[in-house]
Amino acid sequence: MENNTLRINGQRLRESLETMAQIGATPGGGVQRLTLSDEDKQARDLFVKWLKELDLEITIDEMGNIFGRRPGKNNNLAPVMSGSHVDSQPKGGRFDGILGVMGPLEVLHTLHENNIETERPMVIVDWTNEEGSRFAPAMVSSGVWSGALERDWAYDRTDLAGNRFEDELIRIGYKGAEPCKAFPLHAYYEYHIEQGPMLEMEGKTIGAPKGILCLHWYDIYLDGTANQVGPTPMEGRNDALCAAAEMILAVNDLPERMGGNMVATVGEIQNYPNSRNIIPDKVHFTVDIRSWDDDLALAAWDKVQQDFVKIAEQRGCPIRCEETWRVNHQPFDQRLVERVLQSADMLGYSNLKMVSGAGHDASYVNHVAPTAMIFVPSIGGRSHVEVEATTWEDCEAGGNVLLHAMMESANESD
Ligand SMILES: [Zn+2]
Repeated sequence: MENNTLRINGQRLRESLETMAQIGATPGGGVQRLTLSDEDKQARDLFVKWLKELDLEITIDEMGNIFGRRPGKNNNLAPVMSGSHVDSQPKGGRFDGILGVMGPLEVLHTLHENNIETERPMVIVDWTNEEGSRFAPAMVSSGVWSGALERDWAYDRTDLAGNRFEDELIRIGYKGAEPCKAFPLHAYYEYHIEQGPMLEMEGKTIGAPKGILCLHWYDIYLDGTANQVGPTPMEGRNDALCAAAEMILAVNDLPERMGGNMVATVGEIQNYPNSRNIIPDKVHFTVDIRSWDDDLALAAWDKVQQDFVKIAEQRGCPIRCEETWRVNHQPFDQRLVERVLQSADMLGYSNLKMVSGAGHDASYVNHVAPTAMIFVPSIGGRSHVEVEATTWEDCEAGGNVLLHAMMESANESD
């Protein structure tokens, strides 16, 4: 009970975030720390140095995940873990991922300087390649750790320059000896910026997602007939880009047609030969569908696929659709979700139970251990961009919620 007055050091948390933001800093005020790049290595080196200063027991596994363990009174009990990722999007922000690594680091620092022992050990983790922008897909190392993805398949992923994941892991010196395999966990908390506008809109400081939306990815390939644009009449054209344009709008209309409760996006398109005076004869685009309701997302895909076939027929453009990735919606451990909300209440922070539209490592950890997340507001709801920001007060508030949620879980004997 006397621990209720304990608080993290918000100034120190800010300094660690500002120091990390210098690694891969971009002129626009963001960071670029692509996974397994030299900047990723630099951030890891600094992280490991800070773990050593807190006398943590450090292990690095064969996917490059970095764990720092703080012993408890009873080291036979399963630990409480928290972490996120130090890698970033290209021209990404200074808070996505790194807040969830510096947050628990500050928690452990606070316990360390106050000589506070917990019943259970505590573990901090940096997951390799959460972003998936250099090596697709995302969350690959928590995926391997949880048993959802194969290690050797992950090793063979290549970036646009043809570099292999495993070779780059070796190059930066972070291919560890420890098998990448889930170990028993009593609880996992991931601290993260919201990356959306809900908390700001509702005027709340702390968010506790009840879970993560399902995520369905598809790739669409269209064929048309290339020809000189001048002499070819409009009638009888097989313009693959026009077909794609109609399809993209059909995707955009989908959530409304399905009755809301989902988002659907085309974020990537390639047009060939991409010349102003040739009718496009090949188009590739992506579809991303997310919902709390997996069946609704699948029904939406069925519906839009029928539209695609109709449009493709009308335009005389053969179509091929591939499912690329599917993660079912992930309800978190409701007891831990409530604990996050209660900790926020105890600390006097306004709070909101919500859902997470973005994927996180917590999604895969949730397969094997009781999991919850702590969100703090993103200013203007912006993320994955250089202007991404969260106030220092909110960073500190989330850190305090993490501290108390972790301590409470770590003092449970069963
Ligand atoms: Zn993230």
